[in-house]
Amino acid sequence: MQLAGKTALVTGSTSGIGLAVARALALAGAKVMLNGSRSAAEAEPLRAQLAAETGAGIGYTPANLALGSSARQLVEATIAAFGGLDILVNNAGIQHVAALDAFPDETWDQLIAINLSSVFHTTKAALPGMKANGWGRIINIASAHGVVASPFKAPYTASKHAVVGLTKSVALEVAEQGITCNAVCPGYVRTPLVEKQVVDQARVHNLPEDRVIREVILAAQPSKRFVEADEVAAFVTFLCSEAARSVTGSVQLIDGGWTAR
Ligand code: NAD
Repeated sequence: MQLAGKTALVTGSTSGIGLAVARALALAGAKVMLNGSRSAAEAEPLRAQLAAETGAGIGYTPANLALGSSARQLVEATIAAFGGLDILVNNAGIQHVAALDAFPDETWDQLIAINLSSVFHTTKAALPGMKANGWGRIINIASAHGVVASPFKAPYTASKHAVVGLTKSVALEVAEQGITCNAVCPGYVRTPLVEKQVVDQARVHNLPEDRVIREVILAAQPSKRFVEADEVAAFVTFLCSEAARSVTGSVQLIDGGWTAR
């Protein structure tokens, strides 16, 4: 129970990587605020199940992270509910696969708002309390696309490269105050976000879905297997520990060797 007494907010934690991270932090003893865009009533079965499974204090606050005001209110609601916020995991993100000259303007705006601007807003809202406590952990779930690019994903790649840059600057600003800030960069994890990409990539490459998985998606990943969400969650939990207090401003790749090429 290395995180007993700590409080955590995981954005976008109703599915995929965020849910796995929330579960791992709760099993390590933290109180965890879940977040997603579904209503509190819709998310209640998930909240109750995670509380029963982990024995931890689990809350849920809906927020549309495309809006800066909602992102700030999410942090304020977590602090009000738990009496403070020690661990912020910026995980919420969306993807849209299309050639740049066919990319819808409104999807660019939405993707940048959720993947990048929300990280600015939640971090800004969380830092004063962390500075006052002299302790904090900020973990930004970027992507292998935070360090390398793929075609048809320019807005996503731009947003994740920017998250990596933001991570490094924040880490430098608070390095003397007991606060670490790191980017975790997974390769392909089979979550609803990737399931949608299989369909989108099949369309843009004009290939059947099984060939897209083999020849497009896992072609980039030398391990030839999807990364498990639990592997990412275990790494995030380590970054929250005292043993990781000197790890800051780092870009942690969990990508089956993708970016070693
Ligand atoms: P997912 O689709 O399973 O989950 C995304 C989460 O974000 C959900 O909880 C969803 O409710 C939430 N979300 C989306 N839009 C939101 C909004 N406007 N307001 C609030 N919440 C919102 O996706 P995932 O694959 O688990 O991805 C999680 C993060 O990991 C993303 O930032 C993604 O870019 C990153 N990532 C995923 C992969 C992968 O292969 N799955 C690889 C690298 C990085």
